[in-house]
Amino acid sequence: YSRRRMVQEQLVARGITNKHVLRAMESIPRHLFVSEALHATAYSDRPLPIANGQTISQPYVVALMCQLLLAEPNMRVLEIGTGSGYQAAVLYEMGLNVFSVERIENLYQNTSALLKQLGYKSMTLSLSDGTLGWTRHAPYDRIIVAAGGPNVPQALKDQLAEGGIMLIPVGDERKKQRIVRVFKINGQCREEDCGAVSFVDLVGADGWR
Ligand code: SAH
Repeated sequence: YSRRRMVQEQLVARGITNKHVLRAMESIPRHLFVSEALHATAYSDRPLPIANGQTISQPYVVALMCQLLLAEPNMRVLEIGTGSGYQAAVLYEMGLNVFSVERIENLYQNTSALLKQLGYKSMTLSLSDGTLGWTRHAPYDRIIVAAGGPNVPQALKDQLAEGGIMLIPVGDERKKQRIVRVFKINGQCREEDCGAVSFVDLVGADGWR
């Protein structure tokens, strides 16, 4: 099952049109972001387990989130939930300046090593609670949260630049969220519903405990 087929059958056929997203996902070796036992299924139409009980999202969900972000090359983007590093790699290949945080040390260590090995040298990673954002490099033109929380963390709204856009899965029930798209205009955050998704928990001070 080739990357080109994944792009055509799972992304283009379902309405992904952003050429930066399509080009990135056609070029990135997704199988290298999962364990060797899963290499054969890496391009399947579903999420896959990574370490520590976490998951790498289904290709379509990665593409949808990246497209909904309405990003332009060279923008500064903060990702919460580095996980396997796959989505960070897609954002990077879209031409974005990527900052990504992960709360689980094992994932942070392994993914930092992998991304460096794959040549993503100018990506900036951190081991910390992303519900508090990352003040050091704020504000961000775009923020993308790859885990589902009970609300939109205030720190992330504060660290979003004027005119910025944030995407975050939000829901009262675990594994059942709606993608919320936040637009910051004149200092005010306006929210838009972008449909149903199922993400792992956003765990932290302003997430699930
Ligand atoms: N973008 C990732 C998705 C990984 S799943 C990928 O492409 O593989 C979501 C990740 O969010 C998990 O690794 C989980 O540990 C992480 N996470 C959950 N809560 C977090 C928090 N408060 N701060 C940082 N990372 C968090």
